[in-house]
Amino acid sequence: MGDPTTYHFDLDPALRPAHAPLEERWWPGIRDAALKASSARIYDSILGVRAVVVHATAGGSSAGAASVIFDGNASFHWLVPDEDEPQHGAFVWATCHEARAAWHVRNVCSHPAIWGGRGRINHWSLGIEVVNRQVRSDAFSDWQVEATAQIVRYAWAKYPNLRHVVSHAMLDPARRSDPGSLFPWERLRTAVLDGREERVPELVACAAEMGVVRPSAPFCMVV
Ligand SMILES: [Zn+2]
Repeated sequence: MGDPTTYHFDLDPALRPAHAPLEERWWPGIRDAALKASSARIYDSILGVRAVVVHATAGGSSAGAASVIFDGNASFHWLVPDEDEPQHGAFVWATCHEARAAWHVRNVCSHPAIWGGRGRINHWSLGIEVVNRQVRSDAFSDWQVEATAQIVRYAWAKYPNLRHVVSHAMLDPARRSDPGSLFPWERLRTAVLDGREERVPELVACAAEMGVVRPSAPFCMVV
């Protein structure tokens, strides 16, 4: 059993992936709700992103997690489906515009190891919510850990100043314990840091004289 209040690791800029694709889909109808349940970032929306915060729901359904955004109470950028949901193994849900500060950590929270103890973490972070009941009978699946790692790698490739991956529990130990003592934090760390570059197909690589050839995103994040 791990201590979730200690879960964190840093990202070495020298190991930053050049490209890390992400299979994601917008949760149906959530874009407008997410605009109301988030804030304009006070830092640059690309250069200002310094951390990814990992959460777990303590509830067993993606719909239950998404409902907090529709209710306007809280928000996070991605939702990783549970193993009994049809999206498991296929894609993660996008649930808030990355350019917006989602509401997933209290403003008063901070930790000296995370960007020098600065507060207002939502303004310089991205939030991932993993659907899991946080009980022994509901283990985090290998795919959930892989999918979480892939989100981090996608963000690491996209945001040049991203340095910290941290649990909600470490940032708010008095009130939160997620993603919980059963979350395989070491496996997440290894999957992020040892992730392999996607192999570019040979024909595409040969044709790439004019510049970088990349597959198009599965959907457009622009509002
Ligand atoms: Zn949380």
